[in-house]
Amino acid sequence: MFLAGFSTFKVPSAPRRLGGEFMIDHTHDPALKSWVESANLPGADFPIQNLPFATYSRFPGDPARVGVAIGDQLLDATATFHLASLRGVMAMPRAERLQLRHKISGFLATHTTGAETMLSPIAAAHLELPCEIGDYTDFYASIHHATNVGRMFRPENPLLPNYKWLPVGYHGRASSIVLSGTPIRRPWGQTADSPAGPPVYAPSRRLDYELEIGAFLGPGNTLGHTIPIDQAAGHIAGVCLLNDWSARDMQTWEYQPLGPFLAKSFATSISPWVVTMEALEPFRRAPEPRPEGDPPPLPHLATNAPDALGITLEVWLRSALMTGPMRISRGNVAHLYWTLSQLVAHHASNGCNLRPGDLIGSGTVSGPEKENRGCLLELTLRGTEPLELPTGEQRRFLEDGDEVIFRACCEAPGYRRIGFGECRGTVIAADPSAGRTPHPK
Ligand code: CA
Repeated sequence: MFLAGFSTFKVPSAPRRLGGEFMIDHTHDPALKSWVESANLPGADFPIQNLPFATYSRFPGDPARVGVAIGDQLLDATATFHLASLRGVMAMPRAERLQLRHKISGFLATHTTGAETMLSPIAAAHLELPCEIGDYTDFYASIHHATNVGRMFRPENPLLPNYKWLPVGYHGRASSIVLSGTPIRRPWGQTADSPAGPPVYAPSRRLDYELEIGAFLGPGNTLGHTIPIDQAAGHIAGVCLLNDWSARDMQTWEYQPLGPFLAKSFATSISPWVVTMEALEPFRRAPEPRPEGDPPPLPHLATNAPDALGITLEVWLRSALMTGPMRISRGNVAHLYWTLSQLVAHHASNGCNLRPGDLIGSGTVSGPEKENRGCLLELTLRGTEPLELPTGEQRRFLEDGDEVIFRACCEAPGYRRIGFGECRGTVIAADPSAGRTPHPK
């Protein structure tokens, strides 16, 4: 049953949540159509129910502006709604973002004279990173991923004692976050065949992807103050696809005792579209119950709110010899042990200030089945069970020329499907000059 008009209803599974109402309104009505015809086609990623933001310019040298994707077009939201920057939109309090969504939805639902002059084809736009990212933090929120990886190193005890008490994370590198489509140069780094060394400095031979979602922070908190768990969802502006490229051989040698560093910081790809939390409302659900015997979260991380997101994710791979990509895995964000709200509340729980446009990664999204494994390390069991490609090639880890494509969508009975577009990256050869000795003897 769809509740027409501007209505809210309580989610039965969230009896304790303060302000925990689903804000389902007329902008989610599956019958709503746009005068932009391409938005109404079945399977379109960007129907009028979605309205994801992007930053773009119309031609080289044109100042960056805020766009809203509708079908195969971009609405110039800077000209239409006087939005100076996407970071400015992220900084809005949630109520203001909701009003903006209503205005954009109305503009694209009812045609007004000259409205089409505010559109340009997505295919012709110069898409940019959504905003300058101040800080980037990556988490490890999938217990399936943590268990699969932990088992390779500690078969008897794959999860460390802290895992079920706090969302494990590390500070990533913001400067090397690149937009989908940017080639990914194979990194050089220290790797060692033996845990005791000695290492060599060479191009990584175990390059991997990690299937993740990224969350752009909204208003955030001031230094020294926290974000209560029941307000954390309001501090997330929107979600994108994120590929945390990882050099496993470098990671193995460097990660102890302070965690990942150069094995991750050479590149992180994100999709250009920021799918707002408002658009995701129909796809929020109660998190899966914790397994029997697991401790409940401490009170500052405990919530019954429907903060899990039903987002289906897919990984596609195309080698240089393949004519088209093949799907190699499929997962769902709802499988995460820690929700995005818990990641935000935990991050701010010591008074660390989160700022608009900061990015947090979920960590590799894996699920209970083999087809849900979100990286090659898991999918090929550290290279011991290679993937067979239709060309007869095998893949243990990524080779030069391999293209990795992430896609995602949300579907729920009674609602229009919305999509995330794509996050793509092709691996290119390592810098041939990096290993040269500057002053040969
Ligand atoms: Ca990661």
